[in-house]
Amino acid sequence: MQQDNPLMDLSGLPRFDAILPEHVEPAVDAVLKRNRAAIRELIDTVARPEWDNFMAPLEQLDDDLERVWAPVSHLNAVCDSEELRVVYERCLPKLSDYSAELGQDRDLYEKIHHIRHQGHYAELGRAERKVIDNALRDFHLSGVDLEAADQERYREITSELSRLGNFFSRNLLDATDAWHIDIADESRLAGIPDNARAQARQAALEADIEGWRFTLHAPSFLAVMSHADDASLREEVYRAYVTRASETGPNGGQWDNGGVMLDILRLRRELAVLLGYTDYAAYSLATKMADSSEEVLGFIRQLGGKCREPGRREVRALRQFAREELGIQSLQPWDLAWASEKLRHHRYDFSQESLRPYFPLPRVLEGMFTIVGRLFGIRVEAAEAPSTWHPDVQFYRILDESGAPRGHFYLDLYARKQKRGGAWMADCMGRRRTDNGLQRPVAFLTCNFSAPVEGQPALLTHDEVITLFHEFGHGLHHMLTRVDVAGVAGINGVPWDAVELPSQFLENWCWEREALDLISGHVDSGEPLPQELLDKMRQGRNFQSAMQMCRQLEFSLFDMRLHTEFEPGGDATIQDVLNGVREEVAVVEAPAFNRFQNSFGHIFAGGYAAGYYSYQWAEVLSADAFSLFEEKGIFDAATGRRFLAEILERGGSEEPMVLFEAFRGRKPTVDALLRHSGLSPLEDAA
Ligand SMILES: [Zn+2]
Repeated sequence: MQQDNPLMDLSGLPRFDAILPEHVEPAVDAVLKRNRAAIRELIDTVARPEWDNFMAPLEQLDDDLERVWAPVSHLNAVCDSEELRVVYERCLPKLSDYSAELGQDRDLYEKIHHIRHQGHYAELGRAERKVIDNALRDFHLSGVDLEAADQERYREITSELSRLGNFFSRNLLDATDAWHIDIADESRLAGIPDNARAQARQAALEADIEGWRFTLHAPSFLAVMSHADDASLREEVYRAYVTRASETGPNGGQWDNGGVMLDILRLRRELAVLLGYTDYAAYSLATKMADSSEEVLGFIRQLGGKCREPGRREVRALRQFAREELGIQSLQPWDLAWASEKLRHHRYDFSQESLRPYFPLPRVLEGMFTIVGRLFGIRVEAAEAPSTWHPDVQFYRILDESGAPRGHFYLDLYARKQKRGGAWMADCMGRRRTDNGLQRPVAFLTCNFSAPVEGQPALLTHDEVITLFHEFGHGLHHMLTRVDVAGVAGINGVPWDAVELPSQFLENWCWEREALDLISGHVDSGEPLPQELLDKMRQGRNFQSAMQMCRQLEFSLFDMRLHTEFEPGGDATIQDVLNGVREEVAVVEAPAFNRFQNSFGHIFAGGYAAGYYSYQWAEVLSADAFSLFEEKGIFDAATGRRFLAEILERGGSEEPMVLFEAFRGRKPTVDALLRHSGLSPLEDAA
């Protein structure tokens, strides 16, 4: 069966040169069918389940499905085509049905429950036990142990929630698309950069009108808010933007998310209570590193306490600058970004673009490999490329100190048509022990840098260098794992609020002199990044960092309070909660008409509900982990090997707090993050 379908050939790396859209659906159907039958047979035939006779075969089935789907999902992201998109979207519900069905499979649950409570659980290794614990937890979160009527209700709620999430996004998108401002008088464009003008011109041409058209989509909106000298233009755009999908503003009431948000919050609470949790935050935290809402709220308030005063100082400095240099007596909400840009330029006179010649891509890559080599004792080298999806794609292997292979990765660096924007790491294959020996991890590392132009290598901005380090950090987490059990190898099973630790951690080397000497070299002269430029970059790094932190904490606190104390349908409104949050942590007053909450897709339509704090949480961990290198030396080999052994190699096999403490020798503190952000009391005194 399926002999001629390259997706079904799991003997090695994916056969990218042979995979066609028509292979996708038959392969997915076949593997799902085979898995369903095989799981049923396992349940029926294995009377005394153990790891080897039950969990290991399940892992094999999981891996088969993953290995069929990983290249499809990757191709959908980097080689989009109409044909592929159609089959991809047709397969998504098949996959989610399959996993929903397994999540509520009582028989399957009981077999695993048996291993845990009557079987040989206690004799298993840490990783195997963790896989079993996670599986039982996830069964519980999928409603496996509910009565039939409640299971029915669970399924109703989850499907209604996914519908409402979509509805929220659609309202937001429609509201965003519906508004624009057309400008005929060029003098109103003063301050707006050329590329943003060109885009506005293009938008006007497409609409068949004269002049320039600005919209509420991010690039257009940001260009106006940060650069347009015309305050009335900024005000008009600001008012439209912050009232999107609400009952007020220019399109007030037309795509109002107000009711949708209440429905979402009500159903989330019902779901959590159905599963035995007090509120949705408790349900959300069941799979996260943070233990309780109290811990998260305490964390947010602690950081808020440290940032609010410095944040107020930054606001005062901005107001003073606006008065003295810009002639603005009273700074309005639509002046903030614009005045901040002026102040930034006034203080640190350099641009990201001016850094490009110092970061030719080959130099950056080679330097990055040297850095991780010194830290973790590994060697990264180009390997014979298997078949790929584009001629630009490179292939590398990672060897450890003894020369033994650890993993491989595809590197796809340049932006091109049919490739999704952004940068990310995805797994192609995970590490696991199989009947045929060890399966080693393979990663996809994808970026969207500008391609090289004739005769010159690609030149990166410093921000892009940081992006590359960030994704490579994720990649190392995936590839350097020593866990042989798929469910908790590499990034698998790592909680949402801990998964950014290795990636943000590795970014730190992009700011260190000694590391910059390895990754920078002027494209013409080879000269490393000048110290004077680095000083400016470092100062600019912390520009308004307290204001930004307060803003992020406002989002996090709002998210947590909505999912703990807020009673949908009670006396207090969502706006009341937000107002209370702002009184607690905000340093900039929001106008009464601001309806930011109606466009907060992260928590209403994305995966961040009762999880927005993860951004700051992971930043604390990564800054604190790096601070040990600051103490011991940023290339201290012993510290590097310890990070490798305690964090990178352990994947999801142990609680992240246990791993962190094993590496750092204590619990995390916020000190390093505050110091790196220029917010520690020490820094102030100096
Ligand atoms: Zn990341």
